[in-house]
Amino acid sequence: MTNPLQPVRGTRDLIGEESARHFHVIETARRVTRLYGFSEWQTPIFEDTRVFSRTLGETSDVVTKEMYSFTDRGGDSVTLRPEGTAGVCRALITNGLTQTLPQKVFYAGPMFRYERPQKGRYRQFHQIGVELLGPAAPLADAEVIAAGWHILNELGVADEVTLHINTLGDAASRAAYRAALIAYFSARVDRLSPESRTRLEKNPLRIIDSKDEGDQALISGAPLIHEHLTPEAASFYDGLKTYLTTLGVPFAENPRIVRGLDYYNHTAFEFITSALGAQGTVMAGGRYDGLVEQMGGPRVPGIGWAAGIERLAMLTPPPPAPPSPVAVIPLAAEAEAAALSLLTLLRAEGIGAETGYAGNARKRLERAAKSGAAWAVLVAAEGIKLRRLADGSQEDVDAAALIGRLRA
Ligand code: ATP
Ligand code: MG
Repeated sequence: MTNPLQPVRGTRDLIGEESARHFHVIETARRVTRLYGFSEWQTPIFEDTRVFSRTLGETSDVVTKEMYSFTDRGGDSVTLRPEGTAGVCRALITNGLTQTLPQKVFYAGPMFRYERPQKGRYRQFHQIGVELLGPAAPLADAEVIAAGWHILNELGVADEVTLHINTLGDAASRAAYRAALIAYFSARVDRLSPESRTRLEKNPLRIIDSKDEGDQALISGAPLIHEHLTPEAASFYDGLKTYLTTLGVPFAENPRIVRGLDYYNHTAFEFITSALGAQGTVMAGGRYDGLVEQMGGPRVPGIGWAAGIERLAMLTPPPPAPPSPVAVIPLAAEAEAAALSLLTLLRAEGIGAETGYAGNARKRLERAAKSGAAWAVLVAAEGIKLRRLADGSQEDVDAAALIGRLRA
C-alpha cells in the first residue's frame, strides 16, 4: 500500500537549499543562453504519444520501458514528455516557423520517465536544454556546445566535467557502419543480452549504448564508426573540432558516445563527471537533421542538448542567499496603517520588506533578526527609526530619506 502523504516514488519536493540550487541552475542557463541569442519556449508537458514514439525510436529505452503514457477521458493516448526535443520540433511545425530560420530555443522544465529511482535518477526530473534549428554547418554544433560549456563554467562545475565528443556520420557512413556492426555482433550473437539481440535487427548502433555488462565486453572490440565515415562526414567532424578549439572549449574524443535516441546524426556529445557515480552524464546532445522531416515537416537541420538540473544542482556550490527583507514594525496599534503604507512604498521601490503580521514589537524584532534581516524600520506616531539588527543601534530617519539610506 502506498501512503498518500509520501510523494510518489521517484518524485520529490523542492524546498529550501535544494530549491535555491535548482532555480540558480535555471536562472544561470537562462542568462547565458540569452548571450548566445536563444529565446525561451514552453511547450506542453504532455503530447500525443506519437510525438515521442515516432521520433525517439522503437528500440530506445525511453520508448520501450520508460514512458508515462495513458489514455485520457476522450480516448486519446497521451504521454508525459520524457524529453524536450520532440516537443520543440513539433511546436516549430505547428507554429509555422520552419520558414523562419534559424530558431534558437532554450527551455527548462519537468520531464517524466518510469525508471528505477536512485541518486541522480528520478521519475519526475527536470532539464534545461537548447535547440538550434536551421543551420547545417559545424559552427552551429560548436556554438551550441560552447553555450553549454559556458553555463557549466558559470555554475562553477567546469573543473568536474569532461566533454566527450563523437560523430555518428551521415546516412551513407551510418549504412556502412551498420553493416560492419551487424557482421561483428552476428558472429557473437550467443553472448549478446536478449535486449541487444532485438537491437541487432532493428538498430545495431543502439547496442553500443547498452549498459549490460556482458554486452560491454563485446562492445570494447566492436568496429568504430571512424573506419566508415564518408569524406563529407569526416570533414564535418574535423570542422567541429577546429571550431571547438577556436572557441576555447576543451574536449576528448570518445567513439563510444552514440546517444540513446534514434534521431541523431553527425555530432554526438556528453559532458561527463566522475563525481556522481553511475549517473555521470550531466549534459548530453547531438545533431538531428532528419527529425523535423520525420515528424511530417520540411527538412530542417537541428542541433541541441539537454542537461539534468538535479545532477547539475548536486555538483554546484550553494548559490549566495538573497538579502533578507527589511522588517517594518509598528511600535503600537495606532502606527499599523503608517507601517503598512511604508511596506507598500518600499516594495514599490524594489526593496524587499516584511512586517511579521502579528505579535508585539519585541517578538517581531527577534523574528526579523532570526531571518537574517539587516535592518528594521520602527514606526511610531511620532516618526520612524532605523535600527541596525546586528548591534541594535538606532537613528531617527525622515520618511523621505529612508529609501536612500536602505539602498546605500
Ligand atoms: P542516462 O544514460 O543517465 O539514463 P539518458 O541518455 O537517458 O541518461 P538523456 O535522455 O540524454 O539521458 O537526458 C539528458 C540528461 O538528462 C542526462 O544527461 C541527465 O543529466 C538527465 N536525466 C536523464 N534521465 C534522468 C532521470 N531519470 N533523472 C534525473 N536526470 C535524468
Ligand atoms: Mg536514460
